[in-house]
Amino acid sequence: MIPLLDLRAPYEELRGESDAALRRVIDGAAFVGGPEVKGFEAEFAAYLGVPRVLGVANGTDALEIALQAVGVGPGDRVLTVPFTFAATVEAIVRCGATPRFVDVRADDLTIDVEQAAAVIEREPVKAVLPVHLYGHGADLDRLVPLARARGCVVIEDAAQAHGAWLPFGGRRARAGAAGDAAGFSFYPTKNLGAMGDGGAIATTRADVAERARLLANHGEAEKYRHVIASGRNSRLDGLQAAVLRVRLAKLDEWNGRRRRIAALYDEGLRGLPLRLPVERPGYEHVYHQYVVRVANRERVQQALAARGIGTAIHYPRALHEQEGFRSLGYRGGQFPVAEKAAAEVLSLPMSPHLTESQAGEVIEAVRRVVSGS
Ligand SMILES: *Cc1c(COP(=O)(O)O)cnc(C)c1O
Repeated sequence: MIPLLDLRAPYEELRGESDAALRRVIDGAAFVGGPEVKGFEAEFAAYLGVPRVLGVANGTDALEIALQAVGVGPGDRVLTVPFTFAATVEAIVRCGATPRFVDVRADDLTIDVEQAAAVIEREPVKAVLPVHLYGHGADLDRLVPLARARGCVVIEDAAQAHGAWLPFGGRRARAGAAGDAAGFSFYPTKNLGAMGDGGAIATTRADVAERARLLANHGEAEKYRHVIASGRNSRLDGLQAAVLRVRLAKLDEWNGRRRRIAALYDEGLRGLPLRLPVERPGYEHVYHQYVVRVANRERVQQALAARGIGTAIHYPRALHEQEGFRSLGYRGGQFPVAEKAAAEVLSLPMSPHLTESQAGEVIEAVRRVVSGS
């Protein structure tokens, strides 16, 4: 059996360091906030190249609080894509704002900047929420200047792209460091995953960092001085922060291992009737998922399962066609690239802990199944 990923493996690889870090938190009783959270926030900010990171309870909260912190609220329109995890759009809805979809690019399945530009020119848009899907950066090099020119803020959904690079302003930036703010998730399956839920907001703006801090912690400017009424409790806990610090030190190595597996897949699956993922020039994909596109996907998925290869579908249905988002008023056929992707995508086993020989077995199984032999 080769599973899609093995959630025990990151702990096993770093067992000694993780246990020592968890022990520090338990002995110090710094369960919420405290030195591990502060330490992680500073280290992750330095890693991303942003001045401020704020730990929160999960990635969905990170997006919602980031949107609120830049001033998105009831009546505002937020541009995003229908081909993403539901949390991207929930965050917008929970702010009282209205999601406005545009389709994704056919190559990397991130936001289509031409379509975004056309909407921003015609309609009042408060914010754009691009998604760095599967670990490949969205085209912020073109999107951010275009949005800024119209007074529109950019919040990145970086929940799948810890450590990815994208071209930006003649240099390169980490995913999460190019917009006004970004939301990260540390759900255990992510490239940087905790041992429970966790999330963070990264921001280049001091005002957004301050506002987010108030929103995430009961509007408290200092102990028992509450300066806004719309605060809440969304905090990263000490145990998660301690584990995240240990794993952050490994992130580049782990992403490198993902990239190596991806290179083996690229090589081994070339020439088959499959569409392979792309890495556009100037970008560094971190392969949160390695996603191929294939006709009669269900048959391929079942045949792989029969050979002991675990796969998944991220995501089987575009959000504008989901029951819960029907009230937004979109129809099937409006976002053909997203709809076609939803019908064809298949995620192959991918993690830093997949061995090269396991990757070879996956390649062999896919070759047999897809070429019908
Ligand atoms: C995981 C994920 C989120 C939400 O993160 P949680 O920590 O699960 O709340 C948001 N957007 C995308 C694209 C994700 O993959």
